[in-house]
Amino acid sequence: MKIDRLIIKNEGMRYDTTKEKSAENLRQALALMNKHTAALHPITFAVWYEYVSGCNQSLNKDLEELIRDGSKLSEEATRNLYDRHIAELNETTAKRIQEELQKIVEQVKKSADLTGQNASKYGQGLEILGRELAQSEPNSALTKYVDVAIQETTEIKGALQTFGETLSVTRSELDQLRDELARVKAEVLIDGLTSLTNRRGFDKYIDELALSSSVTGIPFGMILIDIDHFKKLNDNYGHVFGDRVLRALGQIMKSSVKGRDIVARYGGEEFAVLLPETNLAGAQSLAEQLRSHIERARIRKMSTEETIDAITISAGVAEYRTREDISDFIQRTDKALYTAKAAGRNQVISA
Ligand code: GH3
Ligand code: MG
Ligand code: MG
Repeated sequence: MKIDRLIIKNEGMRYDTTKEKSAENLRQALALMNKHTAALHPITFAVWYEYVSGCNQSLNKDLEELIRDGSKLSEEATRNLYDRHIAELNETTAKRIQEELQKIVEQVKKSADLTGQNASKYGQGLEILGRELAQSEPNSALTKYVDVAIQETTEIKGALQTFGETLSVTRSELDQLRDELARVKAEVLIDGLTSLTNRRGFDKYIDELALSSSVTGIPFGMILIDIDHFKKLNDNYGHVFGDRVLRALGQIMKSSVKGRDIVARYGGEEFAVLLPETNLAGAQSLAEQLRSHIERARIRKMSTEETIDAITISAGVAEYRTREDISDFIQRTDKALYTAKAAGRNQVISA
């Protein structure tokens, strides 16, 4: 009787294999992260998690090559692996890792609670058993069996407590990882020089806008901007100053738009502005405002008080036609920009 109860309780503590597998992958990934020198952030996590899950053979091959001689994986090597085998794979993989991570966070939270509950219930069970045993007739065979059972269950209880502690540490680590993953995901869409949306972000947003515009029938606008004679500016004042101009113009554009409008660095000295729920006339008038703000801005040279000649931009403007191919839309806008250049620069032309 008494032993049956123990056995039943024991059964109840088993985890199913998938949970166990996820938790095991997670523990392995975290352990490996700790062993190597790259900082603890989602990129490192993603690399090691992919590695232990064994579903990315080319990653595993390259990674093993790097650590074969016992080397520790550095920050740079980790990021390289991420760029080569994870980031460039596709959106789906990134999403899978994020979902997997979220799922694990939830699972770990649940099993941490469960472990705590079971361990204490189990402890109570043991206590009752111990008391009953003290009152019963000595029976050597039963006593021996129960001794072993107590011994084993005490060990299990200890192991569960340790596991519980490990899990609670892991829990805050995972919360941190999840937050950082969200941040890294956002950073992937930001240009390092200007802090504007980068080309990857532009591609993502224009896709989303085209889709929703095709569903709702509400237009959106785009402005493509190219700095006039930027090569000459670099030649005359140097690249460092050129970079400063890119940042300054980015700021001017950013502060001239509002709400859900997106200013992106489209290429080297080219910018794109996406304007949700804006028709051609609206986009045109904003482009004209940007052009005139920039023409009037004076950017000082860093070391001297000297200001340089006016910097100007040319712009092409277009309104998205429902269900239009995005590359056709960009091409139309780009053609308008080219026309503005050919017509003498420092002007806005509509497609
Ligand atoms: P246009 O009026 O016809 O646009 O003349 P442009 O000189 O601006 O055009 P072009 O495309 O010939 O030159 C663009 C220049 O922008 C060349 C390149 O050196 C510079 N450039 C591109 N990216 C960067 C950057 O990140 N920093 C700096 N400083 N310069 C850049
Ligand atoms: Mg250009
Ligand atoms: Mg230019």
